Amino acid sequence: MTIEELLKYDREHIWHPYTSTIDPLPVYPVKKAEGVYIELENGKRLIDGMSSWWCEIHGYNHPVLNAAIEQQLKDMSHIMFGGFTHRPAVDLAQKILSIAPEGLDKIFFCDSGSVSVEVAMKMALQYWYAAGRGEKRHFMTITKGYHGDTWNAMSVCDPVTGMHGIFHGSLPIQYFIRRPECRMGEPCREEDIREFKDCLRKHHKDIAAVILEPIVQGAGGMWFYSADYLKKVRSLCDQYEVLLICDEIATGFGRTGKLWAVEHAGITPDIMCIGKAITGGYMSFAATMATSSVATMICSREPYVFMHGPTFMGNPLACAVASASIDLLSRYDLEKMIGGIEQQLKKELAPAARWEQVADVRVLGAIGVIEMKEPVNMAVLQARFVEEGIWVRPFGKLVYIMPPYIIRPEELSRLTSALLKIVKDIK
Ligand code: PMP
Repeated sequence: MTIEELLKYDREHIWHPYTSTIDPLPVYPVKKAEGVYIELENGKRLIDGMSSWWCEIHGYNHPVLNAAIEQQLKDMSHIMFGGFTHRPAVDLAQKILSIAPEGLDKIFFCDSGSVSVEVAMKMALQYWYAAGRGEKRHFMTITKGYHGDTWNAMSVCDPVTGMHGIFHGSLPIQYFIRRPECRMGEPCREEDIREFKDCLRKHHKDIAAVILEPIVQGAGGMWFYSADYLKKVRSLCDQYEVLLICDEIATGFGRTGKLWAVEHAGITPDIMCIGKAITGGYMSFAATMATSSVATMICSREPYVFMHGPTFMGNPLACAVASASIDLLSRYDLEKMIGGIEQQLKKELAPAARWEQVADVRVLGAIGVIEMKEPVNMAVLQARFVEEGIWVRPFGKLVYIMPPYIIRPEELSRLTSALLKIVKDIK
């Protein structure tokens, strides 16, 4: 098949994320990837600024991760988790729980981030059912959040960007309050938390849990909010007997400069979702963790079990590569590594803050965001990025990068300088 035939078939038959089948956005045929480089079929090499949507923290085609999968493949690639267990799952559980926020000590392995959010929400509902308070069956969240594309996950995504209007009447109704405007690094004043407090005070009797992305709201707006706010959220949830679910799918495994974003606030949620970088970006896999008291309550009333069990739960290949990824992470001096990227991003993206077309520049950990005043034309911009040899996929008004952690300073400089060159030209 020639590249032209491949592209033609793709265009005519294959759905890509958030894409029209009538007039699809262009796609670039990729041949292979190694380290921070993505090689297209035409031989062009791009420096990766996206870590394949936050996942590829160690870069592509990593020999240690490859070896972990190859080794596991020789024993078994998959085995049902109902009635069986295996070393890869137990090893991984031990590794994750030993580094998880204090208090989380039960883990449910699942297939993807969205599923782990569904699992978390089901846990919260089953918890209150078992506690004899089945009327607590709604969720509360903040606007501009993103938790995945499955049904209940979607119900707690931002109502506008999550396009609730289209699914009106079918999505469960949840409580939304405005996202905090106090930024990361700033204190949370009384007026910043007032709406949250009021909503909980009024509705806690029918709220099972608050769900939010800790510190960094990702796909809903790339917004970094005050750690102090999150701390207050934790204590208000306790005060009003509402569980707290933190979705660390995008932030977990070091992206914000701490292993978990909740560490910035020094809190432990009752339930926590992890995914994306869990396998070093090798395959679709995720997990939901809970405290013992959540797990025990769930299982103490008929049906006495947690009602979930996907086919690929605990997949050995995914567990093996996730274990190897965590071993790699533990060998990094994470705060220094991410701190270095953060300093460099701050310095190199700063000039954009002075440009007329730019509304804001913000950096946290290995995440650099340029917020434009107007929405950008993704197709046009992406073509320009590719011409310049970088891979960046903006959305809405947001042009952002989150490179693999192993990016070298000179590669990061090439990424940021190409990025700025193009952003500067946006009218
Ligand atoms: N939660 C957050 C915070 C995410 O960023 C994402 C993915 N962008 C998800 C959930 C959904 O994960 P997945 O795409 O693996 O289903």
